[in-house]
Amino acid sequence: MTDRDGLDTYRGKRHFDRTREPQGEQSSSGDMPCFVVQIHDASTLHFDFRLEVDGVLKSWSVPKGPSTDPQDKRLAMPTEDHPLEYREFEGVIAEGEYGAGAVIVWDEGSYRPLPGKKRRGGTFGEALDSGHASFWLEGSKLHGGYALTRFRGGGSGGREAWLLIKESDERAGARGTPDARRARSVRTGRTLKRVAEEESGGGGGGDE
Ligand code: MN
Repeated sequence: MTDRDGLDTYRGKRHFDRTREPQGEQSSSGDMPCFVVQIHDASTLHFDFRLEVDGVLKSWSVPKGPSTDPQDKRLAMPTEDHPLEYREFEGVIAEGEYGAGAVIVWDEGSYRPLPGKKRRGGTFGEALDSGHASFWLEGSKLHGGYALTRFRGGGSGGREAWLLIKESDERAGARGTPDARRARSVRTGRTLKRVAEEESGGGGGGDE
């Protein structure tokens, strides 16, 4: 994810006549950078954690989802940059398409970069490129400091792997993460199952 590929990889994986996912035109979401956490019932159920950085959503697939417990080290595998409009995407990606399955927006909000221990100056994007960044989330469900740290890959090729960990602060807690199957959309209150029932076949009119 550090190759700053813009959205070419994202676009190359998708057929926009067959999915309602956005192609991406926005360059900024507002005054504060945004974050979104989606739950995606694809070939494996996972959370997608995305942070707005330099006009795109930097993205990680987090199998277990973000935890409120600083003891939990959550594996976060980088995925391709997504367009900013993706933070609003909730629906069903059609069968046969990349990432087929239901998506809900589990949490959303803004974030601000936190000063790193080693980092002085430099942008948040540069901190991520260097393999470590911490940030304060203000979402509906997630609050407080989190850190993303690369522990494998980067530079010399090989698949990167990161950890997403809650920092120890007043918003930490032992509750962990809710069950992804029971979790509800912060935008519509719907579960994955409900979205699948209501929107299956809704691949953007590209049905055969
Ligand atoms: Mn996903």
